[in-house]
Amino acid sequence: MSRLDHRAQPPADLLIRGARVLDPREGIDREHDVLVRDGEIAEIGAPNSIDAPDGAEVLDGEGRHLFPGFVDPHVHLRTPGQEHKEDLDSGTRAAAAGGYVAVVAMPNTDPTVDSAPVLLSLREAARREARIPVGFMASITRGLGGEALTEMAELAQAGALGFTDDGKPVHRAGILRKALQYQRLAGRVICLHEEDPTLSGRGVMHEGEVSARLGLAGIPSISESTLIARDASLAGYEDGRIHIQHLSARESVAAIAEAKARGVKITAEASPHHLTLTHEALLERLDTRLKMNPPLRSEDDRQALIAGLLDGTIDCIATDHAPHAREEKEVPFEEAPMGTTGLETAFAAVYTELVLPGVLPLELVVDKLSAGAALVDLPLPAVRRGEPANLCLLDLESSFEVGEAGYESRSENCCFAGRRLHGRVLATVAAGAVAYRRRALSVVGAA
Ligand SMILES: [Zn+2]
Repeated sequence: MSRLDHRAQPPADLLIRGARVLDPREGIDREHDVLVRDGEIAEIGAPNSIDAPDGAEVLDGEGRHLFPGFVDPHVHLRTPGQEHKEDLDSGTRAAAAGGYVAVVAMPNTDPTVDSAPVLLSLREAARREARIPVGFMASITRGLGGEALTEMAELAQAGALGFTDDGKPVHRAGILRKALQYQRLAGRVICLHEEDPTLSGRGVMHEGEVSARLGLAGIPSISESTLIARDASLAGYEDGRIHIQHLSARESVAAIAEAKARGVKITAEASPHHLTLTHEALLERLDTRLKMNPPLRSEDDRQALIAGLLDGTIDCIATDHAPHAREEKEVPFEEAPMGTTGLETAFAAVYTELVLPGVLPLELVVDKLSAGAALVDLPLPAVRRGEPANLCLLDLESSFEVGEAGYESRSENCCFAGRRLHGRVLATVAAGAVAYRRRALSVVGAA
């Protein structure tokens, strides 16, 4: 994972005893002992079959689950420029607490990550501050201005994992077409925030019955889906590779399915909040933590996203973790910035709202929470001998109220705040080192 950076940590020597190991891609779903030696998965055996070597710490996995660690291809770490919301240390601490072993940060920072020097200095900062490996995307256009392309080949050379103007669409088709042509040289995926600003207008929530009742300006679903259709067409024509970010509407899922069917190299992600919440939540309380872009849509849209995950139209789950300071969100709904945090609650939200009621199988969720690695050409974490340890240990029985004990993130704008969720991350091992450990985690002993 040489295009990812983090602060080097001592490699773990760890025996996780008797956890239910679930790695759908490896075809594993049973109790095992897993031995990590010098940061590498050294042995996988029947429960109580592996002796703890000298100096190894033993974690009690009984009644707990061990998954390949999660990978998030879409987070906002807000650095450089907005460290009052988040930074590399706090953002990756939140990620590790959510079971993540790698995250990909978006370039809509201040300055924008649109040149090799900005990217290289961020990568250097990550080697000092990040607790888990972080990769960076660079912008498609300079300063996210939508006019002039960045030096994509040079940015790829400098380690950009992909290109995106996330937060904004690439409004002009001709510019995206050019980016797709340069992609042949630069490689790397082009990720797209799909929204037609002439349709979104001044909308602050989904356009539908609820916006009408509340008297708020709406963002129609077609704002997203019409641009997806346009961009899928462009990608097909130029034989480029695109990824659609934070899918929210039924029409969008249909547009992607249609493009995939005709062979366009297109992938898509959905967020835990779009999969589990709808605009109805705003009827209970006009809470600015429920304001994000794209907005929470209707139950029909949510069902389409779930169906898209099940049939493979949607490739992965990404949080779009978007921290904002409290005072920025504590303003009238119309004025609040868009975005919710999500790294610390992603698994628990999806597990509680979709796995427990039997809507999605657990193995599908575990797969989709790390499948995003593939779209940025990173290896998928695997519970396999000889692999670097990228693991998370969870207690699915244990529940918690979101926010009751604060957050690891610097920001508190979590759309799930106050909800009781099941499925607690107990420990995360990222790139072979322990990146997170819950205080209450019982340690059987150190040999
Ligand atoms: Zn985003």
